[in-house]
Amino acid sequence: RGQTGKELERYRSIVENSLNEIYIFHPDTLKFIAVNRGARENLGYTIDELSEMTPLDLKPEIDLQSFRELLAPLASGEKEQILFYTVHRRKDGSFYPVEIHVQLVEHGGEKVYVALVMDLTERRAMEHELWERERILSAITDSARDAIVMLDGQGKVVFWNPAAEQLFGYSREEVLGRELHRLLVPNEELYRACKKALKHFQLTGEGNIVGKTIEFKGRHKDGQEIYVELSLSPLKIKDAWHAVGILRDISERKKMEEQLYRLSITDPLTNVYNRRFFMQMLKQEIQRAQRTGRSFSVIMLDLDHFKSVNDRFGHAAGDLVLKTIAEAVSKRIRKTDSLARWGGEEFIILLPETPVDGATNLAEELCASLSSLTVPGVGHVTASFGVAGYVPSDTVDTITMRADNMLYEAKTAGRNCVRYADEVSGQSN
Ligand code: GH3
Ligand code: MG
Ligand code: MG
Repeated sequence: RGQTGKELERYRSIVENSLNEIYIFHPDTLKFIAVNRGARENLGYTIDELSEMTPLDLKPEIDLQSFRELLAPLASGEKEQILFYTVHRRKDGSFYPVEIHVQLVEHGGEKVYVALVMDLTERRAMEHELWERERILSAITDSARDAIVMLDGQGKVVFWNPAAEQLFGYSREEVLGRELHRLLVPNEELYRACKKALKHFQLTGEGNIVGKTIEFKGRHKDGQEIYVELSLSPLKIKDAWHAVGILRDISERKKMEEQLYRLSITDPLTNVYNRRFFMQMLKQEIQRAQRTGRSFSVIMLDLDHFKSVNDRFGHAAGDLVLKTIAEAVSKRIRKTDSLARWGGEEFIILLPETPVDGATNLAEELCASLSSLTVPGVGHVTASFGVAGYVPSDTVDTITMRADNMLYEAKTAGRNCVRYADEVSGQSN
């Protein structure tokens, strides 16, 4: 018996010191035969107290009949082990959640129940914390005004918040698992570029727009184009690169910006370009001419005796004349030509790809048509014209000065006429 005695002692010690709670109880009376230290310490009962108790004394949720029913498959041999969840009540009245595995073990012709009990307090706390975090995260993403979108490495949507539904018109159900770029990118060429970038991203988590904020034109479900601002960050989940995008509708801002830009380059009275913007265009045209060798011309015009129009008919009538003239000239010139208000009653026209003789012809025509124009309440007005063609050494100042000189010559020649500068000599004609 020495050998078996020793072995028994070893098993007893293993059971006693196990970190799990182990309970051995009688199959008929259900009374505890042994309860290990881990269990005793958690429960707060002594060995003596426990020897008078059954598992039912620890399980307030379970009555005798249902406990018998629970154990029945073990007693009948139908099952080797059963697993169930309940709570244990400690001696001090407090509770803890448990997972219980019970077996019917035979030893030396006698049968006993052995229950392995795991205290789930910590696991439950962790689960709760996880749930809490998820709840917070979804509260944030649900209430965010910006669209929050996540794509997997294939560009398929795995996350889509309510603001994204709003922004693009697709519901969560509609986009989850679908290729986002297919839906939102308006043209095929850009779509292919996105696909290529995505392939690179999938391998490296890197890309041209990763970690940056960009603006692009996307397509709403209803087909309308929308301006969107996007910031993109990489995120590795289970060894696969995902892209998290925060998107914002900037269509209103863009419209406002365009409006502001238009205002900044427009003369408010006549609605043609203002002097500052004309100078910019002229500078660019000079650079283009230097690069390409293609020429251009400018026409400057100044209304004749305009002071007397104001004097006789009033300032408002003068304003009307300015508007009427600007409109008439705008209508006559080409789309590629640009008309600007140069000063009070002076206008200037930029004519790309037009040599000085072509510009002079146009000026003659404008001169004739203006003089035949009737402005309501004022009658006929005339203008004088100066034309200058680009020469390779020109700057903004020199070419406008030449046009201005020609205008002055038209004035001294009697007004209501055109004078142009010879491209090579700068002489007037
Ligand atoms: P000239 O034929 O030599 O050009 O004579 P002019 O009277 O047109 O030239 P002048 O420079 O002496 O006068 C220009 C006038 O244009 C003076 C000013 O009252 C008027 N003017 C300038 N800007 C405006 C404007 O915005 N509205 C109105 N109604 N008149 C303007
Ligand atoms: Mg004038
Ligand atoms: Mg003037």
